[in-house]
Amino acid sequence: MKLCTALLLLALAACRAAEPALPPLDAEPVCASSRIERPSVRNDVIVVCGERIPIGVPVVLWTERGGYDAYSTELRFPSEPPKDLPAGLRYQPGRKIDKGDGTTRLSSLSGTPACGAELRAALDQFVIHYDVCGTSRQCFKILHDRRKLSVHFLLDVDGTLYQTLDLSDTAWHARQANSRSVGIEIANIGAYPPSDPTLEQWYPCDEQGPYVRFPAWMKETGVRTPGFVARPARAERITGAIHGTSYEMHDLTPQQYATLVKLAAGLCRAFPSLRPDCPRDAQGAVRMEALSAAEFEQFRGILGHFHISADKQDPGPAFDWEHFLLALRSELAQPAP
Ligand SMILES: [Zn+2]
Repeated sequence: MKLCTALLLLALAACRAAEPALPPLDAEPVCASSRIERPSVRNDVIVVCGERIPIGVPVVLWTERGGYDAYSTELRFPSEPPKDLPAGLRYQPGRKIDKGDGTTRLSSLSGTPACGAELRAALDQFVIHYDVCGTSRQCFKILHDRRKLSVHFLLDVDGTLYQTLDLSDTAWHARQANSRSVGIEIANIGAYPPSDPTLEQWYPCDEQGPYVRFPAWMKETGVRTPGFVARPARAERITGAIHGTSYEMHDLTPQQYATLVKLAAGLCRAFPSLRPDCPRDAQGAVRMEALSAAEFEQFRGILGHFHISADKQDPGPAFDWEHFLLALRSELAQPAP
């Protein structure tokens, strides 16, 4: 029996070595030449009130090897300590729940039987950010190890999705939207005034068009797909106005859009108050400036950070709202994964 166990472990080790990306800890590797059965634990789940909800794309949870844990009060990258060590929580446990009589309470929801119902009542916005970091690894380092902030999801250039907190807890990512929203930081260096040199430095061109070249100081990108080359979904640089000011930006990668659609569909299914639409003007065009306080209060659906704060530009002029929302609605017309 001991020999069998040793052989099995050896086989497992061989499978692990051949895996291109880190497998989640709770999923056994699948090796065609062995008799190891397909894992029963799914790796395509997000966690809501402690329950695992499939969304149809792999998700790296905060509990897994290589994941990003916003519950931790330790540095995620202790070998790169900041000058001022942040202390304490990077998130707010629970959610503010409206009791319907004008009062709210901050409920620590996770694990309670009422969690799902209370969260469905509290959560009606999905806020999209770009991270101005370029990679999810760098983004988490800045949020967690430097700025004492958090966000539920990180979406890397290769489409890898990380969840850092249960959605029953409040992430600190968009001020007045925090208590009622889920937030995502999408890896992208962001939008700039037309004369700014940043995009030139980050996006050289080869015969296939522009691609992301990470700066030399970023010794580790953390991108999980080996050899991945990040190319914008549209080759041309996109110019557009946010709050009436013109910015240029390169689009997200197709892999990021594909994952974002799956995640948004999972969220819309789990939270019926979350409508698959963004703020629009009277003509039905996507709003490209901040909502008023009253409009924000009323809005239930998917927003950019710039819809919430007039001093923010993300997710920028290149974020393709109509393409994303069309794909989301078509995903919602399919059976849930
Ligand atoms: Zn933002």
